[in-house]
Amino acid sequence: MTTVHFTCPDCDQTIEVNDAMRKTILDTGCPVCTAAAAEEHFAVTCE
Ligand SMILES: [Zn+2]
Repeated sequence: MTTVHFTCPDCDQTIEVNDAMRKTILDTGCPVCTAAAAEEHFAVTCE
């Protein structure tokens, strides 16, 4: 199973995201602090 985690560069929160959430975060920024997010802030883990 593949999971994607977003780690905010600003507030350091790590959140597990799905595809839709990932797009939303890229569009609108961190859900916690609204800091701008980029592809590099997402980590894909295969389990
Ligand atoms: Zn944040």
